[in-house]
Amino acid sequence: MKKIAIYVCGEISERCTANGCLRAFNDRADSFEVYGPEATGLVAFGSCNGCEQDPEGALYSKLEKFLKAEVDTMHLSTCIRGRCDHYEAFVKILSKNFDVIGYTHGSQEGRKKYHIDEEKILS
Ligand code: SF4
Repeated sequence: MKKIAIYVCGEISERCTANGCLRAFNDRADSFEVYGPEATGLVAFGSCNGCEQDPEGALYSKLEKFLKAEVDTMHLSTCIRGRCDHYEAFVKILSKNFDVIGYTHGSQEGRKKYHIDEEKILS
């Protein structure tokens, strides 16, 4: 079974139910379409601690838990992609341990501020 985790924006999560992310996962739609009929399980769900709470350090502090959950692929949420200045840093941190998909729901291109530029991030 492919083990999946979702990481969402802490500020948005104060007013979001994660319905868009979870609906896409349950329907294997949008970013989750890549799994097709393959067995997948959502084994972890985390949120950033907040813009003023050392976002990258907070992610590092949660890495051990994601590793313990044996996550294979981490999806950064569409809200992080759309608004977060740490998006590329998050991708870089997570890529050392997991496959990373840079959004959850909506289109692959989206109305995003960022996208995963693998050459830039992984260099
Ligand atoms: S640092 Fe990024 S992910 Fe974290 S709360 Fe702020 S905008 Fe959201």
